[in-house]
Amino acid sequence: MTCSTGGRRPGRFGRREGRNTASAKRGQTMLKWELSEKKGRLSVLCLGAHSDDIEIGCGGTILKLLESENDIAWYWVVLSGSAKRKDEAVKSAKTLLNRSTEKQIVVKNFKDGYFPYNGATIKDYFESLKRVCSPDIIFTHYRHDLHQDHRLVSDLTWNTFRDHMILEYESPKYDGDMGTPGVFVHVDETVCRRKIGHILAHFKSQAHHHWFGEETFRAILRLRGMESNAPSKYAEAFYGRKVLLGL
Ligand SMILES: [Zn+2]
Repeated sequence: MTCSTGGRRPGRFGRREGRNTASAKRGQTMLKWELSEKKGRLSVLCLGAHSDDIEIGCGGTILKLLESENDIAWYWVVLSGSAKRKDEAVKSAKTLLNRSTEKQIVVKNFKDGYFPYNGATIKDYFESLKRVCSPDIIFTHYRHDLHQDHRLVSDLTWNTFRDHMILEYESPKYDGDMGTPGVFVHVDETVCRRKIGHILAHFKSQAHHHWFGEETFRAILRLRGMESNAPSKYAEAFYGRKVLLGL
């Protein structure tokens, strides 16, 4: 039994994971789908409107991918950033991807908060991205995110990449747009601490925000862990609006 990411590369995702002991003891039946022993390098595109979005949305999943045996080529794109925030974004990405031999880190300077009003130039950038990047997995913003920049990035992701596995991550915020994502990645306490510690250490320019702190990041991980019966209690969650199972 296999599960594929799209028409181009069936079988990229593959083996069913056996039920672990803890789950079996609790009588749980949900199957997990893992990245299979793949043929060739996996290409991952991470998209974020602002300097810390990728790390907050999917930092735990990225850490798990980095710990896996998969050979991964990373394409890391942050679309806005003042000098300070750009510096934070680059240092954060370089630290996270430190041991990856294949990585491209790009920080653009589209104006924070004004993405919908600069839509044409950002759309042009996405078109250029398509020509240099053919990802197997794309992490991007949630389509119904209430931040206008996030929402545009999500829309342009779907406009641009038409035959790809796209996973939309969450961004907690004052506006209150937490929804009901349906794709989960379990993370253990160690990954949890590494994710949160990394964010707090690398994005000090955001520390003045009342929401920016360990409690917020851990609370979401715990909530999604609860929703997905994570043995470790924690999980990241995504909206996977198109997932192709190869049976
Ligand atoms: Zn953001």
